[in-house]
Amino acid sequence: MSYAISPIGHIRSCFKEKFAIPRQPQLAPAARGVLELLPPFDQGEAVEGLERISHVWLLFLFHQALEDKPRLKVRPPRLGGNRSLGVFATRATHRPNGIGQSVVKLDRVEPGRLWLSGIDLLDGTPVIDIKPYVPYADAVADAHNGIADAPPAPIPVQWSESALIQAGEQALRLGEPVVELIEQCLAQDPRPAYQKPTPERRYGARLWDLDVHWHYPEPGVIRVLDVQPGTDG
Ligand code: SAM
Repeated sequence: MSYAISPIGHIRSCFKEKFAIPRQPQLAPAARGVLELLPPFDQGEAVEGLERISHVWLLFLFHQALEDKPRLKVRPPRLGGNRSLGVFATRATHRPNGIGQSVVKLDRVEPGRLWLSGIDLLDGTPVIDIKPYVPYADAVADAHNGIADAPPAPIPVQWSESALIQAGEQALRLGEPVVELIEQCLAQDPRPAYQKPTPERRYGARLWDLDVHWHYPEPGVIRVLDVQPGTDG
C-alpha cells in the first residue's frame, strides 16, 4: 500500500547547496531561513498559538537525495565516510521515504511565514509537517548515543583581513549575521573526511547569494579567503 504526502510549504534558506550545511540543526544558530506555507496553510488560523512556542520540529523531504533503490547500510560522514552502519542507526539523507527531521528555533511567526534559525536545510526543501517542540517529552535527560554522543569538535576559523571586511559589508547589505554564519558553518569542517587538503587547494560554498572561499593553511585550521556576491546570485 502507498500513501500520498504533499508539502505544506517550502524553505527559503541561507544554504544554496548541500556542501557546508551543518550535519544537524542548532550547530549554526546564525543559519536562518523562512518557511513559506502553501494554501490552505498560509492562512493565519493554521499558525495560531505558535507565537508562544520557541522551537518546532520540522518534518521534511530530502528532495535532493531521493532515490528509488532502498539502502540497508549507509556510510555516515560523521564516521569518516569509510565505515557503514544500518540505515536506521543513522540520520543519513539516503533513507526510506527520504524523510528528515530537525528541531529549529522559531524566531517570528506571521500568517503564511515562519522565520527560523539554527537550520540544517537546503533552499527549496519541501516541508511536510510542523510540530511544536515539547521540552518535557522531547528532551530525554539520560539518553545516550554511542555513535554520535556530542557535537563534532569545532575547528578554528581564521580570516584574511580582506575577507573579514567583505563579510562585514555583505552582512550590512543582507541584514544577516554573515560573519557568524561563515564561522559556525566552517567550524564544522565541511570537507569530506577522506580528503587531505593541501594549503594550495581552495574550497568554496554558496551562502545566501555569496560565494565563500577558504583553504586549510595547516591541518585542522580553516582560513577564509574571500566572501563575494556570486555572479549568478
Ligand atoms: N536533521 C535532519 C535529520 O536528522 O533528519 C537532517 C540531517 S542530515 C545528516 C543533514 C544534511 O542533509 C545537511 O548537511 C545537508 O547536506 C543535507 N540536506 C539538507 N537539506 C536537504 C535536502 N532538501 N535534500 C538533500 N539533502 C539535504
